[in-house]
Amino acid sequence: MLRLLEAPAALRDACDEARRAGRRVGLVPTMGYLHDGHLSLLARARQAVGEAGLVVVSIFVNPTQFGPGEDLERYPRDLDGDVAKCEQSGADLVFAPPEDAMYAADAETFVDVERISRGLCGDHRPGHFRGVCTVVSKLFNIVGPCAAVFGAKDYQQLAVIRRMTRDLFLPVEIIGAPIVREVDGLAMSSRNAYLTAEQRRVAPALHRALSAARARARISGEPTSVADVIAEARALLDREPALAVEYLEVRDAETLQRVETATPDRVVMLVAAQLGSTRLIDNLLL
Ligand code: AMP
Repeated sequence: MLRLLEAPAALRDACDEARRAGRRVGLVPTMGYLHDGHLSLLARARQAVGEAGLVVVSIFVNPTQFGPGEDLERYPRDLDGDVAKCEQSGADLVFAPPEDAMYAADAETFVDVERISRGLCGDHRPGHFRGVCTVVSKLFNIVGPCAAVFGAKDYQQLAVIRRMTRDLFLPVEIIGAPIVREVDGLAMSSRNAYLTAEQRRVAPALHRALSAARARARISGEPTSVADVIAEARALLDREPALAVEYLEVRDAETLQRVETATPDRVVMLVAAQLGSTRLIDNLLL
């Protein structure tokens, strides 16, 4: 039976009790409006903690990770639908706190991961990773020792959270899970619900561009220059005038530092683009 909890103290008790009984705890933090990408994280958490483990899915549209003018107000929400999906997918517990349970009215403590939060999404969404790190560290502190699963869809976020967890000695094993895509390659996202039919037709261009770059980086056994690989992807993106590219970059897959050559399996190409009023991101290991 799935349990639905709203109070941090109740979640802490449930997790403590599970660990006392020798069960491992798995955590999947989300903002809800769940799709198959989220559910793949849930399955990965189950695999990590075993059948006897306690799999917790948190659903919280975290206000501090949205900038002014972003889509906080219209972010899609469907708690009943999400709970049903979690139940079908074998989660044990859904944690869906109200905003004031996560942020006291006079809260003034935030977690900032410095270098790795800059560039890429960090530059286009000032304060975004500060909000993400703050809410994720709150969740980790409520849940306690656990395995937490994050999707590679948010590649920079995964790197930032790994760094935060290590730097702060948080008792959490971070597990990265691969991107789940629609059949035409579009990375699943709750924000895809915003797309009009015409925009939905355009959106897979992001994945096509990344795939072309990957093929270019692998075409010869020779190292390929990042400029060539980016040009390959850019040519495909430019065919879709509705896509306003925010960034298109190749970075070291581990450190996210800039690189000059696109060494296969060592570098990742990351893209963000605005399509109408919807912001899309994607990435691919080259
Ligand atoms: P969100 O609800 O968008 O904040 O995402 C919650 C978690 O689901 C994050 O760890 C995301 O990286 C992950 N996620 C979102 N979309 C996908 C996807 N298409 N494939 C895999 N993981 C995803």
